[in-house]
Amino acid sequence: MKGMMMHRPLKIADLITFAADTYPDGEIVSVRTEGDIHRTTYRETAGRVARLAHGLRGLGVGDGDRIATLAWNGYRHFELYYAVSGIGAVCHTINPRLSAEQMIYIVNHAQDRLLFADLTFVPALEKLRPHFPADLRIVIMTDRAHMPETTLEGVLCYEDILDGQPAEIDWPDFPEDRAAGLCYTSGTTGNPKGTLYSHRSTVLHALGMCVTIPQALKEGSRILPVVPLFHVNAWGLPYGAPLSGASLIFPGAALDGSSLFELMDREKVFSAWGVPTVWMGLMNEIRQRGRLPEGFGDIVVGGSAASRALIEAFETEGVNVCHAWGMTEMSPLGTQCNLPPAMADLPLDRRVDRKQSQGRRVFGVELKLVDDAGKRLPHDGATPGHLYVRGNTVTSGYYEDPDATAPVFDAEGWFCTGDIATIDPDGFLAVTDRSKDLIKSGGEWISSLDLENIVMSHPGVASCAVIAVPDVKWEERPLLIVQAREDAQPQKEEILGLLQDRVARWQVPDDVVFVEALPMTATGKVSKLMLRQQYAEDSA
Ligand code: AMP
Repeated sequence: MKGMMMHRPLKIADLITFAADTYPDGEIVSVRTEGDIHRTTYRETAGRVARLAHGLRGLGVGDGDRIATLAWNGYRHFELYYAVSGIGAVCHTINPRLSAEQMIYIVNHAQDRLLFADLTFVPALEKLRPHFPADLRIVIMTDRAHMPETTLEGVLCYEDILDGQPAEIDWPDFPEDRAAGLCYTSGTTGNPKGTLYSHRSTVLHALGMCVTIPQALKEGSRILPVVPLFHVNAWGLPYGAPLSGASLIFPGAALDGSSLFELMDREKVFSAWGVPTVWMGLMNEIRQRGRLPEGFGDIVVGGSAASRALIEAFETEGVNVCHAWGMTEMSPLGTQCNLPPAMADLPLDRRVDRKQSQGRRVFGVELKLVDDAGKRLPHDGATPGHLYVRGNTVTSGYYEDPDATAPVFDAEGWFCTGDIATIDPDGFLAVTDRSKDLIKSGGEWISSLDLENIVMSHPGVASCAVIAVPDVKWEERPLLIVQAREDAQPQKEEILGLLQDRVARWQVPDDVVFVEALPMTATGKVSKLMLRQQYAEDSA
């Protein structure tokens, strides 16, 4: 028997309409590339989104057209998220930190029709333009007064597109599985691969995040997405914040500890979201100033593992740390580590033990562990395995890329995350490695993350990475690479001593290399690929 409830398609535009009706005064504050601070509300934003949507239609944008963005976190980028998907087109966010070669590949692979760019990127685009599709048009995200001198031909001005357009719109209905957003993974090997989000997956993801991260996503809360709008939908915040009534504070391009502290303090940010390196910068600033930014009480950290030292530092200051795990292919949230109420009063040490794990799954995402042969492994908290996921917010294949798609799905249709993890009987996931970063020594697995966590507890270490180097006898051995704090000179023996106290002897790295700075990927993670190329190939 069929249920008899109405079927209304889940649509992204309904989120901003809902926010305008329900939380009209919810704020969007942006540090603009023009140099000032811009303030608006969900009500005003819904009107500008409607005007932009009419303007896009006027430019001939239609169903399924890919519309690219190359921009920092700000209100115009947010408007594009809604106007583009609202009229049935696809918002394709491009990571400006990618190499020129990767950007050229992506824009051509996606066959973007329009590219919206912040002022910052005009010089780069002048060089890249000849390599993009001939009919691509570029829009500069500013007003007439700030339009730059440029050699780019036929550029449009963002505010001109909105000028004179009505601030109301009847959003069209279409099936909820219509494509809405496109994001390419930065791709450690081979070409970048595109994940194509739908309206349905995006709205379900927004609902899932509001339910599992309620301390941040609620009416009146003020959230700072340091995670960029160009990286997996800023972890879903442009959708979850309006749905919950939380305000958004967009930081623009300056993401150093001091700029973030100033902005958070002034705007009374309660919850800030981003990768571990950003929070290390902020913690240094907090220590120098001897206080927290006013109103600050929560961080959501993910993208790579948050070290014990980082979690402990914030928790000691009274800031709740919510460790989250996910990936581009998962919209991105898979798990989050808010503790159950029964654990809230545990002593700091025990709380931090728990918070080092990546936490429990978000509704809509299922997790399984398998061995090398694909056989299911127990969720006993001790047996590591290859982590597979499935669910409504997980990709079913890469955009226009069957070769990349085939190897990452198993016979049951689950997606292979490429992570190695354990899951305990209470459902807590602990990622121990990327499968390609795992060190296989004498038939045993050594977790690079476990070793890094211990090394990060040394006060003189700013950042570190453990990689596998080839070894004649053991196949692979761990090598530790350390970036020291500016004011410190940690010694090799001290660091290895720390490890000797905490792990089995055969797991202790054979050597420590000190570097000025660890290489980073376009998404702000330590690039183990580059380290392997440098150190593992040298040693081979
Ligand atoms: P990306 O698609 O670029 O966001 O990368 C996803 C990958 O980042 C995951 O498969 C993990 O390897 C890693 N990752 C994301 N969040 C975490 C986390 N909280 N702890 C450990 N690794 C993480």
